[in-house]
Amino acid sequence: MKAGTERRLTVALAGNPNVGKSTLFNALTGLRQHTGNWPGKTVGVASGTVVRQGIRYTLVDLPGTYALSGGSEDEQIAAEYIASGGADWTVAVCDGSSLERSLILALQIRALTPNLIVCVNLMDEASRRGISVDGRQLSEMLGVPVVLTAAGKKQGLGRLLSVLSESKERTAASPLPLGDAVAEAERIAAACVTKSPNSGEAWQRKLDRLLVSRECGIPILLALLFFLVWLTVWGANAPSALLERLFDLGYGCLSAWMLPLPWWLRGLLLDGVYATATRVICVMLPPMAIFFPLFTILEDVGYLPRMAFLLDGCMRRCGGCGKQALTMCMGLGCNAVGVTGCRIIDSPRERLLAILTNAMVPCNGRFPTLILLAGLFFPGGAAPIAALCVVLGVLGAMAVSGALSRTVLRHAQSSFLMEMPPFRKPRIAQILTRSLLDRTLHISLRALKVAAPAGALLWLISNTQAMSAAVQLLDPVARTLGMNGVILLAFLLSLPANELLIPVILMALTGAGSLGAVSGDTQVLLLEAGWTVKTAVCTMLFTLFHWPCATTLMTIHAETKSLKKTAAAVFLPTAVGIALCLMANLILP
Ligand code: GDP
Repeated sequence: MKAGTERRLTVALAGNPNVGKSTLFNALTGLRQHTGNWPGKTVGVASGTVVRQGIRYTLVDLPGTYALSGGSEDEQIAAEYIASGGADWTVAVCDGSSLERSLILALQIRALTPNLIVCVNLMDEASRRGISVDGRQLSEMLGVPVVLTAAGKKQGLGRLLSVLSESKERTAASPLPLGDAVAEAERIAAACVTKSPNSGEAWQRKLDRLLVSRECGIPILLALLFFLVWLTVWGANAPSALLERLFDLGYGCLSAWMLPLPWWLRGLLLDGVYATATRVICVMLPPMAIFFPLFTILEDVGYLPRMAFLLDGCMRRCGGCGKQALTMCMGLGCNAVGVTGCRIIDSPRERLLAILTNAMVPCNGRFPTLILLAGLFFPGGAAPIAALCVVLGVLGAMAVSGALSRTVLRHAQSSFLMEMPPFRKPRIAQILTRSLLDRTLHISLRALKVAAPAGALLWLISNTQAMSAAVQLLDPVARTLGMNGVILLAFLLSLPANELLIPVILMALTGAGSLGAVSGDTQVLLLEAGWTVKTAVCTMLFTLFHWPCATTLMTIHAETKSLKKTAAAVFLPTAVGIALCLMANLILP
């Protein structure tokens, strides 16, 4: 224990994935780490502090692992940290509803450090399922203190801290081979766990059988996805319009307030930065605020791993794995989130495949373009065409994954080991905070950071001769792709956020000096500019397949730490887009 006026204890939290480690960590430290009902979210090591009765506890949340044999990077991180003696105490967090498996890891930890406390969590869920755990017996058999908790309900946390503060250091146990740990764990669980015969697991099994069955699994999955997309698209209309009106009012107030400024500064700030940033918020925020909570509910009830399981076979044929399907679903919300989510994929090559192809799944930022063009050029068919676009994006990602895995990223496929967590009641308050604060707001702020300077640039370009010069320069290339110079320039200028595409096109067509000043009927404007069905199809194809937005690119670079791989993430979808547009331009009348 460290010396000092205040007593300090460093406590490492270790455990299998999905046993509630992050929930325990969050409940004790008040910090918010990502928690969700699927294994593999705690990536890397997080730490936080809690002060209780004069003791400062520093909690270190280690990545979830099934063993400590050093097979994966996470296992190495956890094992090295525990063995290094960096923590005064290690708390092995176990799942009370499936103690035997959790105990294997606890026993392995006991062989690495004598200063172990076992925390049997999820006790509320265990008792709901008719399972009880004899803590005293367990403590005697293990020779370490045992605390029963329900971290989700903040039960037993005080007791855990007081046990930590009272425990005395112990001497080391001898190392334990995995096989022995399994045989012991089995014996201990048999002695300490009682299961009532009428445990309420039957409905879970029935539901599981239905959701992953051959006949119903995929239709239910598709129906859920369609519903998710439809609700996001439909539900976002009213709040988007409301936000637009509010920002218009703000524009009026600000422009009066900025009157004393020189015209160019006013234009740059108001018509450039303000108009672009608020336009991005209007189109991006409402769909995200709908999509992410819905998606988080699916995550929280435990549906996502089942989805990964259903899609595993399909993904495997493309050289990927079921978890890639999960990251593609996240990409539907935002590709940057999808790319970060690829951390759950253990094999580095499969992870890279998933990162490089994620942007082919159309994100929320691209839905508005797809839906608008589908609605304008295919009357009555907007929803099915938009859904078709999602399918096309997914097929594109799978085809490119398949091609890469058979050529430059050839590799032996990893086995798909993903535990099916039990179905759990969604925690609405947490879902809302997590999806709105961590995801929606976080992404919006990140998008704003790029949209604000881009707005200034856009204003400068559109108020000089640069815009028409650029359009003329790009026009011949764009024509071979079935588009025109304005559209291609708009694709380039909407690098900060895909949502900017249509607004920039309209701005260029109307000659408006800013996004806020665009007025007129979109369809009339596009038709007057010579748009045909072919133009719309090619623009939609290029919307699906072109370079990822700046936020996603920054995320890809952060995740891969490689300019070459980031460049590949630009090249791959763009090459697919160019090929498809060339073909469409040749084939369509
Ligand atoms: P980790 O992977 O070990 O960090 O697990 P999480 O903290 O992310 O928790 C996994 C799931 O278990 C989440 O859905 C949590 O809400 C849920 N959970 C965690 N602790 C409890 C608990 O004590 N009771 C119940 N019923 N659910 C819990």
